[in-house]
Parts: sequence; C-alpha cells; structure tokens
Amino acid sequence: MTAIVPTDTLHIILIGPYGAGKGTQAQWLVRDFDLAYFVAGEVMKDEIRRKTKLGKQVEPIVRAGKLVPDSIVLRLLSRFLKKMPADKGFVIDGSPRNVVQKKLIDDMLDSINKRTINILIDIPERESLRRLSKRLICEGCGHKPIGRELSNAECRVCKGYLVKRYDDQPAIIKKRLAVYKKEVVPAIEAYRREGRLLRVDGNQSRASVYRDIVRLLATLGFEPKKGTARKSAR
Ligand code: AMP
Repeated sequence: MTAIVPTDTLHIILIGPYGAGKGTQAQWLVRDFDLAYFVAGEVMKDEIRRKTKLGKQVEPIVRAGKLVPDSIVLRLLSRFLKKMPADKGFVIDGSPRNVVQKKLIDDMLDSINKRTINILIDIPERESLRRLSKRLICEGCGHKPIGRELSNAECRVCKGYLVKRYDDQPAIIKKRLAVYKKEVVPAIEAYRREGRLLRVDGNQSRASVYRDIVRLLATLGFEPKKGTARKSAR
C-alpha cells in the first residue's frame, strides 16, 4: 500500500469482473467528487450506434465479446484526456483489460504527471455470471436500470423498451468471462505486485460498496464535496 501516492487531484481506475457494479460506483464518484468519466466500452457503443468509421471497425469485435485492439482504447483515452481540463480528476471505468494496456495507460498518465488509485471491485465468478444474465439496458436511451427497475418492461427515463444487452447473451457472457480470466486478471495482478491495488468487496449492496470506496479514499486524504456522499449511500 505504500506505493499508492495520492496527489491533489483524484484519478481513479475502477477495475473488476463483469457485473461488479463499476458503472454505478463510477457515476456516484463522478457526482460526489466532481470527476470526469471515461468508459471505453460506452464510447465504443456510442460510436457503433452512430455508425461512425470507428464504430464500424469495432462492432464485430464488441459483438463477439472480444477485446478491441489496445491502440484504439489508448486513442480514445488520449482523446478524453485532451478534452478535459488538466486539473480535473477522473474515473476510468473498466480499463485496462490486459497487461499491455496497463503499461500503456501508466506510461500515458506518467507522461502528464498523473498517477491513478486503482480499485478492484471484487465479486466471485458465479455472481458475475448471475448478474450479467439478468442485466437489462434501455433500447432507446441506453439507461441501465438497477434494483426494482429491472422488473419493469419500460425505461423510467424515456419509456423505451428494456432489453438484454447484445453482449449479455449466455454464449457471449461465457466468452467475456474467459477473456476476463485470461486478460484482465493478469493486469490486476500487476497492480497488486506493484503495491498499487486497493480492493473492496463487491458482493454486498451498492450502498455498502460505495461506503467502502469512500472510506478508502478518505484514508488517502480525499473527501467528497460536502453533503453528497450520504445521499448516494442510501
Ligand atoms: P463493457 O460494456 O465495459 O463490457 O465493454 C463492452 C465491450 O467493449 C467489451 O466487451 C470489449 O469488446 C470492448 N472494450 C471495453 N473496454 C475495453 C478495453 N479497455 N479494451 C478492449 N476492449 C474493450
């Protein structure tokens, strides 16, 4: 833990199995700590929806549950970093996904004097499988329902249909879990070996996971903006 060197600005990487709840935790962190948000998977899905050149290039890979080339992820991250104010903190959700990406991301951030706090939200494989199998997304606006919303037929935001994500079909889920073990776990282990990994137990309520993350950040000297964290943890 000694190698985790907090700076004034909060830079977080959230990493962990599929279905660990990284997206929800990231959104709460973004709101409570006033951070920018980078999630390569969503950027790519947006490019796919808009049928851009990049979208067309990555669509078959994403649909197959495979990893897109590292160079593309790095390009998207670089674009994100250039667009945001240099002094703003950020959350990177769901990258890196292999050891090469880990090194490239470390190098890119080192070159601009940024160091990340890397947080693993950990859940067992069977829980990952269970959560992915019941996950839904709004066909219209991309909203991801959680909790009781999952039993609705329509989206609470835009009234669109709630459907299964195309990469949450059983055959693709299996592939994604295999990719996680083979590719992502070694990247997590690399952070651990360097003493740069914090772990929270993801197998508890979303509010409890968030409370644990906020506590960890507090030990590193980071506090949420006044009055916001308690609301999220309800
Ligand atoms: P997600 O919704 O985060 O699971 O991402 C959806 C898909 O985008 C993944 O199954 C991959 O095909 C791709 N993807 C997202 N992040 C990365 C990454 N860091 N490296 C490679 N592929 C990624």
